[in-house]
Amino acid sequence: MHIIADLHTHTVASTHAYSTVLENAEYAAKAGLSALAVTDHTPASTDGPHVWHFHNLHKALPRELLGVKLIFGAESSIIDYEGHIDFPHEECKDLDWIIASIHRNQLAKASPDVITKLYLGVAENPDVDMIGHCATTGYEFDYEKCLKKFKEYGKIVEINESSITWKNTSDNYREIIRICKKFEIPVAVNSDAHFCGLIGKTERAFALLEEQCFPEKLIINSDFEMLKEHINSKKGNIL
Ligand SMILES: [Zn+2]
Ligand SMILES: [Zn+2]
Repeated sequence: MHIIADLHTHTVASTHAYSTVLENAEYAAKAGLSALAVTDHTPASTDGPHVWHFHNLHKALPRELLGVKLIFGAESSIIDYEGHIDFPHEECKDLDWIIASIHRNQLAKASPDVITKLYLGVAENPDVDMIGHCATTGYEFDYEKCLKKFKEYGKIVEINESSITWKNTSDNYREIIRICKKFEIPVAVNSDAHFCGLIGKTERAFALLEEQCFPEKLIINSDFEMLKEHINSKKGNIL
């Protein structure tokens, strides 16, 4: 099992991350990746950069760095139980890749019924490309109902390496992986690296996927052509 792109990574623009775009690209190249998404937190997050960071991505950075294609994105936070995110459409529309994630400091834990309603709302947001680390404990939801809706609305489900170490998320991921396999729901496997040395490292995620013989054809970032088709069909000729 392998990935050819890391679709969730942070730079020093999020101050709890510690590497630059160049350092991340160097490690992506070393890891043999063809593409790297730069997805820092949004301005509404305590730790996010100014909105100019996002406005300038396309202007300041090359599309390809050290042989690695750059995908310009953001990791937005889900901020209410209807599933609204903290990055408005006006900001999302010019970016290539929008992740929607629950972060504990921005949304209190709630019952599965409440979180199910939240994710059904997120699914309908056309700006969202991928559902970030959705196995967090305390935020469980009706996995089958929501994951099927993510597929219906073209959202990718993330299997997030960093979050596997969070309290008891492995069992939630096992259930998410089981359902994604059963209903052929596409996933992406990402590092969520906050340091360049972790770019492309997804061993724990692979171990969970391999436990259930998860088919690589459902991992959109396991094959460049598959990823290219997915992203380009939504956003134009990015890859
Ligand atoms: Zn996150
Ligand atoms: Zn992240």
